[in-house]
Amino acid sequence: MPAAEHDLVVIGAGPGGYVAAIRAAQLGLNVASAEREAALGGTCLRIGCIPSKALLESSERFHEAKSGLIAHGVKLSGVELDLPAMMRRKDQVVTRLTQGVDFLFKKNKITRYSGTARLDGPGRVLISPTEPRASASGGTGASASGSELKAKHIIIATGSVPASLPNIVFDGQRICSSTEALGFDSVPKHLVVIGAGYIGLELGSVWSRLGAKVTILEYLDRILPGIDTEIATDAQKLFQKQGLEFRLGAEVHSAFAKGASCVVEVEGTEPILCDRVLVAVGRKSNTQNIGLASLNIKLDEKGRITVDEHFATSAAGVYAIGDVIRGPMLAHKAEEEGVACVEHIVTGYGHVDYNAIPGIVYTNPEIASVGKTEEELRSSGIEYRKGTFPFRANGRALALAQIDGKIKILADKTTDRILGVHIIGPRAGDLIAEAAAAIAFSASAEDIARTPHAHPTLSEALKEAALAVDGRSIHA
Ligand code: NAD
Repeated sequence: MPAAEHDLVVIGAGPGGYVAAIRAAQLGLNVASAEREAALGGTCLRIGCIPSKALLESSERFHEAKSGLIAHGVKLSGVELDLPAMMRRKDQVVTRLTQGVDFLFKKNKITRYSGTARLDGPGRVLISPTEPRASASGGTGASASGSELKAKHIIIATGSVPASLPNIVFDGQRICSSTEALGFDSVPKHLVVIGAGYIGLELGSVWSRLGAKVTILEYLDRILPGIDTEIATDAQKLFQKQGLEFRLGAEVHSAFAKGASCVVEVEGTEPILCDRVLVAVGRKSNTQNIGLASLNIKLDEKGRITVDEHFATSAAGVYAIGDVIRGPMLAHKAEEEGVACVEHIVTGYGHVDYNAIPGIVYTNPEIASVGKTEEELRSSGIEYRKGTFPFRANGRALALAQIDGKIKILADKTTDRILGVHIIGPRAGDLIAEAAAAIAFSASAEDIARTPHAHPTLSEALKEAALAVDGRSIHA
């Protein structure tokens, strides 16, 4: 069979790849998407952001029903956990969204190839049936013996996989990555989490709310590296009150299953016995077996694909976006890059404002951040003014009975331009959108302070923090 020809072949249909494919189709390209999994949507939709948010929501409801509604004058008794039902709801949310991507591909006339794709020299992609997983249904074009594609442009959007530590091997049962921790069939008695980053705190919170004892081991002397230190310190105190146990400065040597238990060996202390271990020490770019060598595509020192400012790799006509390249491993960052990449290919213009990319930890309270932290400003010698406002002085937060946390705005001392916004508190992940827009439009703190914010809303806390930059907040 002659090779099928496309203007663009996108390898990987996670948030980076599928969004790039849709935008390219909107711009008139003949687009193909190759995905090795049966379901579209990548890590984010299948085994990451979406299922974890479904479980965070469900576990929060359970926890609230058990102990959080008394203050509202609601007494409940006989509250029970139906874990299989909770997992089924999570799976339904995932199915609905992954099928939604199928629908969007059809709507945009994107040719879908199901199977594992590999570069095979200039402008050539080979698709072979995915091994060992059986099903690669739903696609068009890929035959059992595979397909050969020709493409003017190729985008690599193959994402990332969980990283482990030198002496720890995932067994898929008790020594787990986030993938398995999204689907435990029972609540662990004692879950040890290695790494106090995004995944450790989110999934640690889920299982703690459902009744597990959770111990989080973190190598550094703080949780959430990269997040503004003041906010991370506040967060740790709140999580400890919720029952999470932290051991900071903990150098983990190994973790393994032994008999009925798991053993976690940590430098300088007795081994910890538990019944499950979640390893959440980061993710690594997925660059294996995709034929990079056939085009001599260069990697950086961390094994990520090297790209220029327009996502071009060292091979002509081949681009890379998302978790396989530099920058934070965030779905929305990958989406922005996918759009900018194809817009640049088609129109000659395309840009991502990395400074305006928010990061969110979906714990309770949520933590959200955009722009520079105080530490970054101090270390680059940038003079700033700081305004903070506590949620306990916000009427809506009081009505919600969610008064923990604060908003902090950092603005340039001379120009008042907003340089960073850091939030810990109710719905921080939604509130940060206004801050990201402010940074994208180079707004000043005064701009936010002078913008009417509806009353009574949580967003008033942002306006108050902006007023506080100039020492004139009204309600604190
Ligand atoms: P992370 O980088 O957020 O955190 C990993 C943590 O593990 C760090 O605190 C690190 O210091 C610690 N660590 C590393 N080695 C260790 C060791 N030997 N012993 C103890 N601790 C050690 O990584 P993650 O939580 O695994 O998440 C992976 C990626 O997925 C991140 O890049 C994150 O951006 C992304 N993610 C994002 C979200 C979200 O946006 N809400 C949620 C989940 C994951």
